[in-house]
Amino acid sequence: MASRKDYYDILGVRRGATDEEIEKAYLKLTRTYQFDRPPANKTAESRFREISEAYEILSNKEKRQRYDRSGSELPFPDIGWEYDAEEGEEEDFNLEGFEDVFERGIGRGEQAPFRKPHKGKGLFYSLEIEFEEAIRGTVKEIRVEREVPCPECSGRGVDPASPQKVCDECGGAGQVQIGLPPSAFSHLCPRCQGAGKVHLQLCGSCSGKGQRTQKEVVFVQIPPGVDDGCRIYLSGMGQTGNGGGPTGDLVVTVRVQEHPYFLRRGDDLYLAVPLAVWEAALGAQVEIPTLDGSITLTIPQGTQSGDRMRLGEKGVPHFHGDGRGDQVISLEIVMPQGLNERSQEILGELKRLNPENPRKGCGWSFHP
Ligand SMILES: [Zn+2]
Ligand SMILES: [Zn+2]
Repeated sequence: MASRKDYYDILGVRRGATDEEIEKAYLKLTRTYQFDRPPANKTAESRFREISEAYEILSNKEKRQRYDRSGSELPFPDIGWEYDAEEGEEEDFNLEGFEDVFERGIGRGEQAPFRKPHKGKGLFYSLEIEFEEAIRGTVKEIRVEREVPCPECSGRGVDPASPQKVCDECGGAGQVQIGLPPSAFSHLCPRCQGAGKVHLQLCGSCSGKGQRTQKEVVFVQIPPGVDDGCRIYLSGMGQTGNGGGPTGDLVVTVRVQEHPYFLRRGDDLYLAVPLAVWEAALGAQVEIPTLDGSITLTIPQGTQSGDRMRLGEKGVPHFHGDGRGDQVISLEIVMPQGLNERSQEILGELKRLNPENPRKGCGWSFHP
């Protein structure tokens, strides 16, 4: 019997872990398992999916609560675990009795297996893009392996040409009773889907799984302004559902590479600009980089180290809506090293001309 996955265990966190701890564990693990090309290693890929799945559940308050509530004693077959479903959960919960029928049915092994309708699993992909690609938007080609319905048996898992016999789940009635009176109710027999008869042989092409793995190329549109950690949902591009359930989603987590000198915070970009002492003291025109190429910045006379300037609309395009963030400049005064004798004389003269103590009346405050 398939046992329920322990998502806490998969992420290596304790049960009461905070959102931050979960996030941290996930980031740490996905750094190890990140792949930006078709994964060569099956084990790494399935481990990565497991981690993504665990994070998907534990990082979502509602899903986590539901997961915690469901308890570890309930059977959770690997197929059809609907962590992505938002609708119809209550109905599924009421049909929990089916899981027993399901397990017993497989255990007997004398008939082809059946599946109750379940939405397909999400397919998770971590996509690393360059800093500029995130800002301007791009289209990326990714390669995924999806479970698609077996074409030989149309996803039913049985050989349609094989002989049939009376369904022994429902004795040919096509309906089964779930629960005990007075709360018992009849339901469509999940094994024969109401037909009363079942095929005796599994589909040879998919060994009864009803699905097969298919490599696919998917083009993912990355909108301008996307930030690190953003998830893009491609509806219906995940794993095929079971028993006629809808296909799951493809969930692409975007990882944005860092820029060598721009620091991004939301839609603003931060840049430290070094200034020579005389540039800060006398004022200057300095050339600095922006996303749109270099521009000339006017440094006012008497600029202090740490002074900031804000260039409007020079930041990252807003992901939602028009406009852009700003570019924030932090001016950093750089002291010349290894001054020669003449330069030292000049500074000495400067000292004599400006005898005031800069620490007098400064208040000793710290400006991070
Ligand atoms: Zn098949
Ligand atoms: Zn039946």
